[in-house]
Amino acid sequence: MKTALVCGAGGFIGGHLVKRLKAEGFWVRGVDIKFHEYEETVADDFAVGDLRDQSFCRSVIDRHFDEVYQLAADMGGAGYIFTGENDADVMHNSATINLNVLDACHKRNIKRVFYSSSACMYPSHNQEDPDNPLCSEDSAYPAAPDSEYGWEKLFSERLYLAYNRNHGMQCRVARYHNIFGPLGTWRGGKEKAPAALCRKVAVAREGDAIEIWGDGKQTRSFLFIDECIEGTLRLARSAFEGPVNIGSEEMITINGLANMIIDMSGKRISIANIDGPTGVRGRNSDNRLIQQRLGWAPSRPLAAGMRVTYDWVHAQVMRNIAA
Ligand code: NAD
Repeated sequence: MKTALVCGAGGFIGGHLVKRLKAEGFWVRGVDIKFHEYEETVADDFAVGDLRDQSFCRSVIDRHFDEVYQLAADMGGAGYIFTGENDADVMHNSATINLNVLDACHKRNIKRVFYSSSACMYPSHNQEDPDNPLCSEDSAYPAAPDSEYGWEKLFSERLYLAYNRNHGMQCRVARYHNIFGPLGTWRGGKEKAPAALCRKVAVAREGDAIEIWGDGKQTRSFLFIDECIEGTLRLARSAFEGPVNIGSEEMITINGLANMIIDMSGKRISIANIDGPTGVRGRNSDNRLIQQRLGWAPSRPLAAGMRVTYDWVHAQVMRNIAA
């Protein structure tokens, strides 16, 4: 039986990944500082502990794994990443996790480690035009991310690739672009735009206005979780080390996304654009490289994934009101 370790298994993407690996017949160990908030894990073994702690890290990487997925990070949406208040934590926590996990894998002679970087590492000056952002993989340098979160991702990408060069490892690096779907954080300050907008629309009453940070003309693309998992596994098992974008090329303005969700709700709701942290003006995935190297790229329309996500967040809101 093949074995996999998922670091960050108590989180959004890690939780979905555990389910997919189990469905494929893997024996799976999940690790996280907390249990999954929204459902019971199906992992065969789930260790709760802090991956910043080197000895805990060594204790969960105590055997060979065919595949290791490193998704654990101190992360959140714009309200967490772009205010500047959490910069030291974000950099220290995530870098320490990556240093520990990678070195523990190396010492166990584990070769295959997947690392989830982020589109936040792309230079901000290439993302000032909302209609024409540049996010091809080769535009990463000279580096100039707009957040410390992005700088840490860049550092860690380089760390994984350095272990490939110097220690004969086969790490794989993806740059995720705004992943969304059910079972993700939808409140509390760490939620990202799609879940936050779904929540605002779900709680709004007929005739209300929902608040949106910025002028709403900033553009993004959003990738549904199932496609993220598919791309992750394809890259992890391929001969291509990356870094490569895993994202959607279906770009939309934030107000456009809000209107899509409002339409799904069937409610008459308006938008109030207010001051708030927004990040770059435009960002979109560029899927030429993944298509070329893996012969695959995400294709599911945004609206299909958003429908499932809105229904899930709506159900959470209703359950909360009832409780
Ligand atoms: P998430 O916050 O839901 O999951 C991350 C998990 O890491 C959490 O469950 C958290 O408890 C865990 N963690 C944090 N610190 C830890 C520690 N010290 N020890 C053990 N566990 C710890 O986030 P996600 O959306 O599932 O993202 C997974 C990965 O993908 C992250 O590395 C993130 O930076 C990256 N990424 C995500 C997106 C996205 O849109 N969701 C975009 C780009 C990159």
